[in-house]
Amino acid sequence: LPILTIESTCDETAAAVISDDGAVMGQCIATQEALHEQFRGVVPEVAARAHLERILPVIDTAIRQANVSPDDLTAIAVADRPGLAGSLLVGVVAAKTLAIAWQKPLVSLNHLHAHLYACQLSSEASVYPCVGLIVSGGHTSLYYCTSPLDLEYLGGTIDDAAGEAFDKVGAMLSLGFPGGPEVSKLAAKGKRDAYAFPRSMIHEKHFDFSFSGLKTAVRYAITGPGQQDFAKLEIDDQVKADVCASFETAVVDVLVRKSRRALKQYKCKQLIIGGGVAANGYLRQQFAAAATQDHFALTIAPPDLCTDNAVMGAIALEKIRRGDFASFDIDITPGLQRGF
Ligand code: ATP
Ligand code: MG
Ligand code: FE
Repeated sequence: LPILTIESTCDETAAAVISDDGAVMGQCIATQEALHEQFRGVVPEVAARAHLERILPVIDTAIRQANVSPDDLTAIAVADRPGLAGSLLVGVVAAKTLAIAWQKPLVSLNHLHAHLYACQLSSEASVYPCVGLIVSGGHTSLYYCTSPLDLEYLGGTIDDAAGEAFDKVGAMLSLGFPGGPEVSKLAAKGKRDAYAFPRSMIHEKHFDFSFSGLKTAVRYAITGPGQQDFAKLEIDDQVKADVCASFETAVVDVLVRKSRRALKQYKCKQLIIGGGVAANGYLRQQFAAAATQDHFALTIAPPDLCTDNAVMGAIALEKIRRGDFASFDIDITPGLQRGF
């Protein structure tokens, strides 16, 4: 019997109907990219309002596509952390309301655990135990995972997330929003060693990351010190491509080096990578090369399951197997999560 999963943590409104063997029976994602484009970043109030308008049609579409009736559902699962408060609230209130109206049990999901679970969804065999790397718009974290629900936090960014850095570099170069895919496209035409951008903390033994220094270095490379008005700058196309290529290389270098070190330290032969930035082609290629060299198994979430979606909410099935249901008075846990 199928479950309904709901995702509204940031700026994607998504729902899916997933059968108890993990097959996707129906799904719908409404992205808000066009709404936030003019601000070059997600505006929380705009996101919350858009979720509110879209959540019921999105759920309805997923259920219709699956060709099930609400009666057939065995549970309703919703990501209640972490994310933007107003965004989370819309999903959680919708899930609770439907769970009460349809008399279904509720399951609460950690959005970050779901990002990593997207890797298991694309693998026939178990990917556990493994080192898990999340590279998303809000997070850059390493975990040691013994199951989809048992994750030990090893370290994470102390300032910007990798995706956030991609988006900010995109904004500096007046590229489209979100910046990640745009920067990646330009990077393919640039010289990867054109700029010697910093690889912060790359040699340090801990598993924390820092990308704000890199972001500042990119800014100085574009404007020279002191100036801030990017909108007025006319930047040569080749310079843009070189900046993107050198930036992307710096980010990926750090991610690869730290992940390799985590695998060694935990004597682990399996790495999984999830989150929006894991869709990046250069990242996928560099990790594949590292896997061949170091002889570890690599599972990166398929590109369409890297960015936010409700299919990765299939992790709810793991919670249901454990009898881990949520009470109807669950609250949201907004904000970024470090150490979680
Ligand atoms: P979190 O999961 O931490 O709460 P989020 O849900 O906003 O944050 P995701 O949806 O996982 O983040 O990922 C979005 C991020 O992924 C954006 O920063 C976007 O620029 C980045 N991204 C998407 N595709 C690519 C790509 N091809 N290359 C680099 N970055 C990318
Ligand atoms: Mg998004
Ligand atoms: Fe996400």
